[in-house]
Amino acid sequence: MKLTRRAALSLGASLPLAAALPHAAAAKAEMKGMDIAKSRRVELGEFEVTTLLAGTATRDEPQSIFGMNVSPEEFAKVSEEAFLPADKVQFFFTPTLINTGSELILFDTGLNAKGITAAVEAAGYTAEQVDKVVITHMHGDHIGGLMGEDGETFKNASYIAGAAEHNHWSKADNDGFKSKVAPLSDKMTMIEGGASVASGITSVLAAGHTPGHMGYMIESNGAQLMLIADLANHPVWSLAKPDWEVRFDMDKAQAAESRRKVLGMLAADRVAMVGYHMPFPAMGYVATKGDGFEYVPMSYQMML
Ligand SMILES: [Zn+2]
Repeated sequence: MKLTRRAALSLGASLPLAAALPHAAAAKAEMKGMDIAKSRRVELGEFEVTTLLAGTATRDEPQSIFGMNVSPEEFAKVSEEAFLPADKVQFFFTPTLINTGSELILFDTGLNAKGITAAVEAAGYTAEQVDKVVITHMHGDHIGGLMGEDGETFKNASYIAGAAEHNHWSKADNDGFKSKVAPLSDKMTMIEGGASVASGITSVLAAGHTPGHMGYMIESNGAQLMLIADLANHPVWSLAKPDWEVRFDMDKAQAAESRRKVLGMLAADRVAMVGYHMPFPAMGYVATKGDGFEYVPMSYQMML
């Protein structure tokens, strides 16, 4: 039996695939395992915004991190309603590259130099092309890529960090700060909230997660997007439940207050966001829902 393509397509509905295509069963392709893109680029006005997957990791016992102040029953119920397991969580580490047309600016650097270099290259750039590195706060998963085995990862970059953040960690006996930030401190410009790090890019102090934790408002040609960094670290356990305590929030009450304030503003103004720990590509919107918020992952809005 000889089938034309048209006949094969029309028969496809009624015949088993193997009968219509006798050789299909012989082609035994290897299993590839889970696959996920390492970068996603959108346009924002005149800017290009690329989120980079610098790492991802599975962790057990998520309630040891999120919702520490609620019962296991409540944690399980909220998770189940959102189709999420309550005994495991997937973490994402998502630095962002912004090309303003005149500068390539990287926000945060992932866990290590290898991860961020691979992610920058997957997006079509090299580490040498990065003009500025902005650090939102100085936890290990944000500063880890600053220095690698060969020293400075971004050899041509200048650095920007929050003054309060640098001040705090320089006084703490912290190995991450000593190995990753201290060698670059002389080259760092320290800023406060409300500072411009490039035309159209402004720091927003949102403390609580750490003492000088900063988000960044990005604006080009009237289009806006906010990098919220670690203001909210889970689409459900942080956005829907902004008052749920998070182990990594150093000042838990202040972190919850910052979440409510900034997420409320993003929802009211309908501004897009990138969340460093949101599921990749980590871009979305915030809607108010009940006493909290709802994370609306980006679909095609920024392709239009
Ligand atoms: Zn983080």
